[in-house]
Amino acid sequence: MSQKIYLDGQLLPKEQAVISVYDHGLLYGDGVFEGIRVYSKRVFRLKDHVERLYESARAIRLIIPITPAEMTKAVEETVAANGITDGYVRLVITRGAGSLGLDIRRTSHPQVIIIADTITMYPEEMYEKGMEIITASTIRNHPGALSPRIKSLNYLNNILAKIEGTDAGCAEALMLNHLGHVAECTGDNIFIVKNGVLKTPPTDAGILDGVTRNVVIELAIEAGVEVREMTLIRHDVYVADECFLTGTAAEVIAVTKLDGRPIGEGVPGPVTKKLRTRFQEYVREE
Ligand code: PMP
Repeated sequence: MSQKIYLDGQLLPKEQAVISVYDHGLLYGDGVFEGIRVYSKRVFRLKDHVERLYESARAIRLIIPITPAEMTKAVEETVAANGITDGYVRLVITRGAGSLGLDIRRTSHPQVIIIADTITMYPEEMYEKGMEIITASTIRNHPGALSPRIKSLNYLNNILAKIEGTDAGCAEALMLNHLGHVAECTGDNIFIVKNGVLKTPPTDAGILDGVTRNVVIELAIEAGVEVREMTLIRHDVYVADECFLTGTAAEVIAVTKLDGRPIGEGVPGPVTKKLRTRFQEYVREE
């Protein structure tokens, strides 16, 4: 079956799903997006993703031309049209084609793009053994410049940190915020476990309010684990008993080393393993 892409209200063969080289999304990263998982044919937490998408759009003064209900339906139809059972949806809204200037009044109309595909993030071995990360020297965007809560098409901040990780032979990199506090990784939120308490930076630390982060917090509370959203510094991660990352694509993955320092025993810890297993069950139950 040839892949079908949703573009501007139509499901088109991949080759025909093209947009203008004058699109502000391309010229300026002017747009917003979402990445969403499909498990057993069901789009996971679609409501949360759609809500965050419209909030991101609102923050950048982009008016999405369809309603959240229509968006929900369009995502579900695109997933079905591509016969996806387990996969990944990329939802992109660009400002649309404009002139070679910044003025958004000179753009035509926003483009809605929905891609339903499959995804493999990290090798299975990394999920079993945990990953090693470094701290990037690139700090996370200052919330007063471009809030990390906006899932915008401008990911250069994250890409610069990701390059540092890659150079160091790591699949992810920790980003600190403008205050030097732990923020998040380039495409994932971060958690630590210390003395049985699960800790993660609050959303005002300048992070994306991750859907997976919120699911893991709910699952931890259900499992009787104490959860604290609190300011963390890098030292807290160095001396943590456990550390893991959460993200739509990454799901739940243990971090076993930061900047060359083994975390805890240097292997995925019991709370991490329990939450990962519980997450895997939950995504197929919901
Ligand atoms: N932080 C950043 C910077 C991200 O890009 C993402 C999404 N890949 C996350 C955190 C995790 O968010 P979610 O669980 O909603 O995918």
